[in-house]
Amino acid sequence: MEHVVIKHKRTTLERAEKFISVHHFTDVNLRSRLYPKKASLTSISHFEAPGRIPVEEALAGTYKEAKVGQSFGPTWSTHWFCLDIAVPEDWVGQEVCLLWNSNSEALVWRDSTPVQGLSGEHQRHSFPLANGPIWKNQCRQKIYVEMACNGLFGAGDNGMIERPDPDRYFTLAQAEIAIFDRRIYNLILDVEMLHDMAKHLPDNTERGYQALYTVNKLINTCNVEDPSTYHKAHAIAEEFFKQGNGASQHTLHAMGHAHIDTAWLWPYDETIRKCARSWSCTLQLMEQYPDFTFTCSQAQQFEWVKQHYPVMYDKIKSFVQRGRFIPVGGTWVEMDGNLPSGESFVRQFLYGQLFFQKEFDKTCSEFWLPDTFGYSAQLPQIMNICNIKRFLTQKLSWSLVNKFPHHTFWWQGIDGSKVLSHFPPGDSYEMKGNVKEVLFTLSNYQDKGRSGHSMYLFGYGDGGNGPSEDMLQRLRRIEDTDGLPRVKMSTPDEYFSTVEKNDGDKLCKWKGELYLELHNGTYTSQAKIKELNRRCEILLHDVELMSCLALTTGLPSVYDYPADEILRLWKLLLLNQFHDVLPGSSIELVYKDANNHYKDILKSGKSLWNNAFGHLTAGQSDSRPVVVNTLSWERSDVVIVPGEEKESKETAERSSKKLKLDNELLQLDVYSNNLAIVLVPSCGYTSLVPQECQFPVRVVKKGDLYELENQYLTAVLNSSGHVLELCVPGTSRNAISASHHGNQFVMYDDVPLYWDAWDVMDYHLETRKPVTEVIESVKITDQGPIRVSLEFSLKISDKSYLKQIISLDAITPYLKCETQVTWHENRKFLKVEFPTTINANAASYDIQFGHIQRSNHFNTSWNWAQFEVCGHKWADLSEYGFGLAILNDSKYGYSCLDNVLRLSLLRAPKAPDAKADMGAHKFTYAIMPHTGTFQEAGVIQQAYNLNYPLYVQQRDDTGETTPVNSTALEPTSFFQLDTPQVILETVKKCEKKNGSLVLRVYEAFGGETRACLTSSVPFNNIYRCNGLEDPVPAAETVTEELDVGENEITFTIRPFQVLSFIIDLQ
Ligand SMILES: [Zn+2]
Repeated sequence: MEHVVIKHKRTTLERAEKFISVHHFTDVNLRSRLYPKKASLTSISHFEAPGRIPVEEALAGTYKEAKVGQSFGPTWSTHWFCLDIAVPEDWVGQEVCLLWNSNSEALVWRDSTPVQGLSGEHQRHSFPLANGPIWKNQCRQKIYVEMACNGLFGAGDNGMIERPDPDRYFTLAQAEIAIFDRRIYNLILDVEMLHDMAKHLPDNTERGYQALYTVNKLINTCNVEDPSTYHKAHAIAEEFFKQGNGASQHTLHAMGHAHIDTAWLWPYDETIRKCARSWSCTLQLMEQYPDFTFTCSQAQQFEWVKQHYPVMYDKIKSFVQRGRFIPVGGTWVEMDGNLPSGESFVRQFLYGQLFFQKEFDKTCSEFWLPDTFGYSAQLPQIMNICNIKRFLTQKLSWSLVNKFPHHTFWWQGIDGSKVLSHFPPGDSYEMKGNVKEVLFTLSNYQDKGRSGHSMYLFGYGDGGNGPSEDMLQRLRRIEDTDGLPRVKMSTPDEYFSTVEKNDGDKLCKWKGELYLELHNGTYTSQAKIKELNRRCEILLHDVELMSCLALTTGLPSVYDYPADEILRLWKLLLLNQFHDVLPGSSIELVYKDANNHYKDILKSGKSLWNNAFGHLTAGQSDSRPVVVNTLSWERSDVVIVPGEEKESKETAERSSKKLKLDNELLQLDVYSNNLAIVLVPSCGYTSLVPQECQFPVRVVKKGDLYELENQYLTAVLNSSGHVLELCVPGTSRNAISASHHGNQFVMYDDVPLYWDAWDVMDYHLETRKPVTEVIESVKITDQGPIRVSLEFSLKISDKSYLKQIISLDAITPYLKCETQVTWHENRKFLKVEFPTTINANAASYDIQFGHIQRSNHFNTSWNWAQFEVCGHKWADLSEYGFGLAILNDSKYGYSCLDNVLRLSLLRAPKAPDAKADMGAHKFTYAIMPHTGTFQEAGVIQQAYNLNYPLYVQQRDDTGETTPVNSTALEPTSFFQLDTPQVILETVKKCEKKNGSLVLRVYEAFGGETRACLTSSVPFNNIYRCNGLEDPVPAAETVTEELDVGENEITFTIRPFQVLSFIIDLQ
């Protein structure tokens, strides 16, 4: 007779735990029966591969005997194993698997095809030798295992994000075959899920107790030694899980995912293999579980797999067609969300979507960026123009200070564009199907009552090989079980369509950037990578413009537009904008790769530029140097007249004579360069014709002070390089506060809580130490009339110092500060600060295709959490009628508190790259006081000018003098705009149409205007297109009021709007 007893909750829970424990009572419990029989492999042989080699090479390797217990290494090396398997005949009819644990990542190959990943972490150690029970003819098998000597997170020395231990060895702990008893497997999951419900459902509800009694009954029923009881025990669980929900229950849209960082604690090449390991697991599960869906982002990873694993790629394609392997995101990689330029953002989508279109005949309808360190306020518009109206992330759940108030909401960008946004409320993209997570997903959800649906992404990321069978089995049990949200296998489209249809009008709106209150050291870490990214963005801009001009002028039949090479370079640049590379949070190996990629872009880009230039100016008789301006406004700037290499003062004078330049109009600088003022038309060129310097710049030494003056500003500096006064003529205002010095370098202690390369903490602000020790005090190096310069050097510490040249040109409205730093610090942060006399509530920062304001006070927790913020080429602090802007050529970190604006220069994190940022650095920033608004004062254009230097190209390298009868190259402009409010950001060849160009403009001031774009490039037709370069139907361009005239188009453009046009060339 059965004895009914009161269940003590804790003992019953622990009874269930022990029944399926991996560690306790494993000789008698349920789990001990999972693999009832095991046998050794017939043989294991090993080939030490010379690197990450193709399978054909690996199979041809020389294999030697190996055994369990042996270790393999060092870190990053590759080892192939050939396994001879003979399954005992009496196992036929049972499920049989290989159990392999090399404590590392590994990939199983059969018949030269990758079939399944294995990983040391997360216990993915088992590979089924057949689909279902094994047949007699499957008993003899030869399979290969490719072992990678790294773990899920690389090989961090004493902890995940530490630099990799270069000499780690991995032990082959297990290699054998076993019978797998699926009945036991099912019971283990039954017990686990019932136990978890009993444990995690609220104590004041009945359902948890029902689970507790059910699991207890199951254990009583299940006699582990008697398989005839298994079915009855399983039926008890099934009966319980079958008790369904009411109609109002929340629905979780479950989809598999594997967040694979394109490079991070391992190099790019390892990611290619991580994709193969993860995606092969996914394909295997898809064959077994017909409703399983998997979301997969990053076109680059698809392209890698296509290239390296073509057979697997074909299989992926077939599952994509069936709507189960779902490409998402639309971008080339999951890029950083703060640092890339506006054009880079567009290209991430353009090249991503073109790839998906070509390969899978569909584009993505959602942007997928779950793991990036903040999201630019311009992203909604860029998504919209690339046909994307939906957005997914979860990273804001990492914010340290404030909890973001929504999980489902409309996100509105600076131009007013909106996208439906969702943060899966489990606050993770690595769910496992556990009861606890599912309950948290529901309780944490911020938009209850507004939408009854949310997304649930399950699967291990990086080297964890994505979703596992356990996860699918768990989710299957709770599809519709009372007490838990309903779970359905779904797709992003199904989720977003449901919300759009049912809840769109109930959702709240968030306007502006999605600022992550963490990881704000990533605006500064790995300074050289950020500089190279900026240089390459600019070079590709210039290359595309020049190549388009070369295509449209001269002899079109001869000039072959280098579309393939430009695309290759763009893809390299986009790759390195990945959200752990550009932000500075990768290991040293990754930065070696990235540096090589940038070198490649710079070298090939320069050569493409030269070819285009040569074609553009071919046939011109003037052999004077040509000055090229790639920006869309006429520019007056100071250039160096090209001369003989390593010029002395004498040869500099000689070369100026040779070029027939008027020496009166030149200035020989301290390096014996001839400086000249030139005037260059917009998007065009002219012969180097020195302009008269109408307002010479002056420098005067008065005691210990240095007074600099040109037509735009006067400055007073002391002998340490501090700016004491900075005034705009005609006003009595000094922009620099009397209480502190401007251009003051400051050092901070920069020891974060954990994420070294990522985080600068708020408390660093309390450790400010001004850099005061002068090595060489200011000396005047250039005296005018075109340029004056001062030079000085400072000691930062015993190991680090800096040298700065501050110059003022006759025709520029800013002090330019060219800075060289020798940097050997440990967890220090170098900034330069500008205490102003300005009274404002917010500062403005340059972002992609526009700018935003952020507060300069700490009123609320939302304000002070933004103690370090991201901006691009400039930041400005203004009050009505007056302001100060800081421009820069390669920096992204700023902070502004009250009246003090600071530019972040260098950090010194030690993990995961122990050598990050050590050594020599060169960067330039500029200080620009102004009257009026920063828009009217030209801050935006001046920041572009600082970043896009004029090209001075010597056309004639023969050294011969200019022919007497030669005429100067006519100043030529190819594109003009009639307002500084609108900037022509991009001129490129259309990806989809030969003989057409794409022009991209944006409104930069933040106010609607009407603008006219004129072109001297002869064209037949001009019309609007979207970011994917498809024509926009006329009905959708009503608000732009397009008016096409002879070689021009007039249009209305909204604040911060980005407009793209196609011109069909004649
Ligand atoms: Zn990531």
